[in-house]
Amino acid sequence: LPPFDPGDPLGIDDLLTDEDRAVRATVRQWAADRVLPQIADWYERGELPDIRELARELGAIGALGMSLTGYGCAGASHVQYGLACLELEAADSGIRSLVSVQGSLAMYAIWRFGSEEQKQRWLPGMASGEIIGCFGLTEPDHGSDPASMRTHARREGSDWVLTGRKMWITNGSVAGVAVVWAHTDDGIRGFAVPTDSPGFSAPEIKHKWSLRASVTSELVLDEVRLPADAVLPGAKGLGAPLRCLGQARYGIVWGAMGAARTCFETAVDYARTREQFGRPIGGFQLTQAKLADMALELHKGVLLAHHLGRRCDAGTLRPEQISFGKLNNVREAIEICRTSRTILGANGISLEYPVMRHATNLESVLTYEGTAEMHQLVLGKALTGLDAFR
Ligand code: FAD
Repeated sequence: LPPFDPGDPLGIDDLLTDEDRAVRATVRQWAADRVLPQIADWYERGELPDIRELARELGAIGALGMSLTGYGCAGASHVQYGLACLELEAADSGIRSLVSVQGSLAMYAIWRFGSEEQKQRWLPGMASGEIIGCFGLTEPDHGSDPASMRTHARREGSDWVLTGRKMWITNGSVAGVAVVWAHTDDGIRGFAVPTDSPGFSAPEIKHKWSLRASVTSELVLDEVRLPADAVLPGAKGLGAPLRCLGQARYGIVWGAMGAARTCFETAVDYARTREQFGRPIGGFQLTQAKLADMALELHKGVLLAHHLGRRCDAGTLRPEQISFGKLNNVREAIEICRTSRTILGANGISLEYPVMRHATNLESVLTYEGTAEMHQLVLGKALTGLDAFR
C-alpha cells in the first residue's frame, strides 16, 4: 500500500495528469512569490495596489480565461482551471475573485455571446491582462432577483443609450470594459461597455470587512451612448448572465477549498507546536477531533470539486450540480476557517496568521455568485419539483 499522506489522505492527487500537476505548480508558485509576501499588508490597507501588474502576470501564466479557447486563451481543461482557482484562493479569495470575474464572467460573456468583432477587440487584451473586465448584474435594490433590475437600454436610431446603477461590482474601478446587463424592449441584453464612454463612472466601494484585497465598485451609467455593435448578439434573456455565473460558481467550488486548505494547514502546524498544560495542544483529544473533522470536509470538498470538474470537461455538468458544489464547499470552508481560528486562540484573530482573513473573505464568497439560500432553493426545486423562489 502507498503510505498515508497527511496532505492528501484520500489519494486525490492520483486523479491528476502530469499536465494538471504542472498547471497547479505554476499557479501555486506565482501565488507564493507575488501574493503571500504582501497579502496581509494589502488586506490591512484595504487595497490591491498592484492590480494591473498582477493581472498582466496572471495573463502571462495563462490564468485569465484559462479554459476558453482561441483569442490568446490557454484552452486548459476545466479541472486545470479549478486547480488554479484553488491555488489562488489558498492565497486569498480576492485574487481568485479577480481571476474569476475576468475569465469566467467578463471574458466568458464575450467569448460565448459576443460577435467575432467583439471577441477580436476585447479577448486577446483580456487574456494577457492588459485589459481588465468587470461584470455588472447586481444593483443596489436587486441582488438575488436580477430579473427585476432597473438598468435599461433604449434605442436611439441605431445607437443604444444605457441608464442605471450596478452595485458590488468586482474589478469595476479598474476595468477597461464592463459587461453590463440591462432591460431592453427585447428583454434582458448584455452590453460590452468601454469604460471611457461618456456617462460611465465606477466609484470604488470602501469600508468592506471582507475581500479587502479586491476592488469592488459601483457602476453608474448616466445616458451612456453606445454604437449598435456594443450589444452581445448571442445574449438574450436572463439565461445568458446565469450561464456566465455558472462558470464562475464552478471555479468557486474549487477555490473555497483553497482557503480551507490554508486554514487547515495553519491549524495543524499551530497545534503541533503550541503548548499548554505542558504539552502540544494537538495532543489533546478535543483538538484532534476538530482537526479530523476539518480534514474530512476539506478532502470531501476537493473530491467533489474534482468530480464536478470531470463532468464539466465531459460536458455533462448540470447547473444544479454546480449549486450542490458551491453551497457545500463554501459553507464547509467557512466552518473549517472558523474552527482553525479557535485552535489558534487569540493568535487566530491576528493578521499575522491567515485564518481570520480567509474566514472574513468567505463571507463574501458565501453571498456572491448566488447566496447559499439561492443554491438551497435551486436544489430544493430540483428535489421536489416545487419552485420556492417567489
Ligand atoms: P439580497 O438578494 O437582498 O439577499 C439578502 C438575503 O435574503 C440573503 O440571505 C438572500 O439569500 C435572502 N433571500 C433573497 N431572496 C430570497 C428568497 N426568495 N428566499 C429566501 N431567501 C432569500 N455582483 C455582480 O453582478 N458582479 C460582481 O462582480 C459582484 N461582485 C461582488 C463582490 C462582493 C465582495 C460582494 C459582497 C458581492 C458581489 N456581487 C457582484 C453581488 C452579489 O452577487 C450579491 O450580493 C448577491 O447576489 C446577493 O444579492 P444582495 O446582496 O442584494 O442580497
